Amino acid sequence: MAQLPLSKEEILEKFGPHQKHEPPGGWDFSVQDPDSKVKTHCCFCGQGCGIILKTKDNQVIGFDPWEAFPFNKGKLCPKGVKRYMQGSHPDRLVYPMENRPGIGYERISWEEAYTKIIEAINRIQGQHGKDAFALLSGVSLTNEKSYLIGKFARVALQTANLDYNGRLCMVSAGAGNKKAFGIDRAANSWADILETDLILCTGTNVSECAPITTDYIWKARDRGAKLIVVDPRMTPIARTADLYLPVRPGTDVYLFNTILNLMIEAGDIDFDFVNNHTVGFEDIKKTVAKYSPQDCEKVTGVPAANIIKAAEWWGRARRSFLLHARGIEHHTKGVDNVLSCINIVLASGRIGRTGCGYGTITGQGNGQGGREQGHKCDQLPGNRDITNPEHRKYVAGVWGIDEKELPGKGLSAQEIVNDIHAGKIKGLLSICFNPLVSLPDTQFTEEALKKLDFYVAIDFFLNETARYANIILPGSLHEEDEGTATTAEGRVVRIQSAVTPPGEAKIDWHIFQDLAKRLGREKYFSFQKSEDIFNEMRVASHGGTADYYGITYGMIEKKMGVFWPCPEVGHPGTPRLFEDKKFYFPDGKARFNTVEYRPSADVINEEYPVYLTTGRVIFHYLSGAQTRRIGFLTDQCPDPYVEIHPRLADDHDIKDGDIVRITSRRGSIDLKAKVVKTIRPDTVFVPYHWPDEKSINRLTQRALDPVSKIPEFKMSAVRIEKIS
Ligand code: SF4
Repeated sequence: MAQLPLSKEEILEKFGPHQKHEPPGGWDFSVQDPDSKVKTHCCFCGQGCGIILKTKDNQVIGFDPWEAFPFNKGKLCPKGVKRYMQGSHPDRLVYPMENRPGIGYERISWEEAYTKIIEAINRIQGQHGKDAFALLSGVSLTNEKSYLIGKFARVALQTANLDYNGRLCMVSAGAGNKKAFGIDRAANSWADILETDLILCTGTNVSECAPITTDYIWKARDRGAKLIVVDPRMTPIARTADLYLPVRPGTDVYLFNTILNLMIEAGDIDFDFVNNHTVGFEDIKKTVAKYSPQDCEKVTGVPAANIIKAAEWWGRARRSFLLHARGIEHHTKGVDNVLSCINIVLASGRIGRTGCGYGTITGQGNGQGGREQGHKCDQLPGNRDITNPEHRKYVAGVWGIDEKELPGKGLSAQEIVNDIHAGKIKGLLSICFNPLVSLPDTQFTEEALKKLDFYVAIDFFLNETARYANIILPGSLHEEDEGTATTAEGRVVRIQSAVTPPGEAKIDWHIFQDLAKRLGREKYFSFQKSEDIFNEMRVASHGGTADYYGITYGMIEKKMGVFWPCPEVGHPGTPRLFEDKKFYFPDGKARFNTVEYRPSADVINEEYPVYLTTGRVIFHYLSGAQTRRIGFLTDQCPDPYVEIHPRLADDHDIKDGDIVRITSRRGSIDLKAKVVKTIRPDTVFVPYHWPDEKSINRLTQRALDPVSKIPEFKMSAVRIEKIS
């Protein structure tokens, strides 16, 4: 059983999580001449900003703006500016360790670690079957690592149970895109935002979560474009909107079905496009006919007059661009929410043209690429379907195995943890995934981790989940390996290695190759460099919707990124999809998908009368394993807090700065109140980047979207009370 040999306090003292790092003499390296300047990309969000890292004595010591890189033109958000400070952190894992009950973490050799891992895999799989050993991976890894890990799970571990933390991020958008367009990618590069006349942002706190996108929106507004923002919180971007719709959490389908109905009633439909290039309009027309603005006001809390205004603006715009993110996707009806947005895009016919488009803003560093190349429980490279016999045959052929050897569809991330809790999955390998902080219902995840027979974690810092690992392997930071990543726009970019891993730490994909060799599968894993993996991935993706075949490292460097699909060598890439009005279905037509409003899984009642929604702040990234170790970022936002509207605060005699207890059906948390007018009076907001008693995921629920299997992070029923 995975047990904690040290008390939580001892671990916190030894390994963080709030250990700030300030090298002797401070961080001012301006007087030093760097040894090298390396053009690469920020390791954090899915914007993939270009950055030039400066190195000295095999350490990243600072950065220069990369002004020529076309997406961000040298601009960075605070996380990008301070990212260089994590590399030399004293918490950095630099040798393998074993968790010895009663003793604690002890240094062991790589050979000893590998021997114990292989013994555990063979023992567990021998006793309980191949699928009893699962793999959970991270989507901040490069495309090459994502691809290799997918192949490792299927060919070396031979388990079906591989999934990734993109399951907590983009999967509702991905599933919606595939249902409507047959392909999972933003339809346009962000250059089209600059050319548009109306931008609709829904469920996206652009200014904090995708800061460089704000620059595109503001530039469009400088040209006269209007902005509509739909969000329960008046986020910074919402404060600049021409029309702000403060939707109640979990009611998005109602809003967008009503907008579509109003567009139909007003005749604001592009019938030429709808009749010639789509399927399903008559069905959706019948469905939305009953969605009136008055009923919509009751359900969503948005004034009917503003719903009508939004429908008129969207219906009559000459050019428009719709952007969404986790706010509509983190729901048990996340896919339905996405489809209801896409329906109003298709009805307008404004897609595949200059200034006309649709995009879903990826969250994690390689949120786009990591969901394309076989990293998901139901997917093979090229965004192929693991249940499709032809897709299986093709990929098995590329890998040189019999198709019958290829495992089938496995469990999603939350389902893997559910099965660990149920005692069905006994062993786990994780890399760059911190489920103890990231998954909902923290107490349940903790119970599951304690039940594991064997757990090995690969990471560069000891994250909170890895405290439960039997073996910890030190992997590589973003700047310690090369490869490619794919940004929110669908642009494949080059990640360059700036330094080598410190101490005995290894490049992640070397670890997987070492393990594959010891599992007797060396002949499938004999790559010499990242480019070799990329070249095999190109072939494996060829003919799939996420086709990278024509992309080479040289081409990416020359063009500063290539947009997929790029199906042939010499193909220029595809910044804007659907220019030929051809969608990725056999008949070439896009699909309207009929969706009906349904309530969220958690029920608001007298006992739990308040909506809780969660999200990010600009200074932190995901579970905070990296950003909570960067002093400047931690100083800006050291702790979570709860945003409460003054009216709700008054009802509970809460003043700004008071400690408030928030309680859901799963647990409680005590946080300092921030009384703000920028949130709905029936809703509270808490950011999610902290562990243990500061983790808001102690309150969120494990209910999943039936299609995307994403948990419902964005809507929990809670009560609040002042405790001090
Ligand atoms: Fe750019 Fe995102 Fe990095 Fe900020 S965190 S610099 S927006 S890639």
